[in-house]
Amino acid sequence: MSKLNIKNCSRCKRIFIPVSGEKICPDCRAADLALEERVKTYVRDHPGITINELIEGSGVPSKFVWRMVQQGQFENSSLKDAQYPCNNCGKLITRGTYCDECTGKLKENAQKFAAAMDSRKKRTTEQSSTGKTFSDSMYDAMNR
Ligand SMILES: [Zn+2]
Ligand SMILES: [Zn+2]
Repeated sequence: MSKLNIKNCSRCKRIFIPVSGEKICPDCRAADLALEERVKTYVRDHPGITINELIEGSGVPSKFVWRMVQQGQFENSSLKDAQYPCNNCGKLITRGTYCDECTGKLKENAQKFAAAMDSRKKRTTEQSSTGKTFSDSMYDAMNR
């Protein structure tokens, strides 16, 4: 596992070595942190503002602000209307991609799928005596 992992920064396209799966290089990351700090300071200095006021007032790109909202960075702040629709049902949420309900359903489906795959694997390993069956290698492929 000593493969050298190099990546192109998804922002500035420069090559860098990610430490734990980052998509952007340390320079861009530092710029992001500075921007986050600017947004947080602005919210602190202007209690009770709305997202639009924040975006206009701080001059930070709205995409960046919304990503911070999605990460739950304003959950305990005075920022008003820091909510957006669930990706699945459209209910207003304050962090993540889906509402609690949809998250629960998605998790349930994932577990059902994993359980189905599991029992299929058990069945095939029990009955296979000569090498791998087709569904066995399918399972391996999906686990990769
Ligand atoms: Zn970069
Ligand atoms: Zn939902």
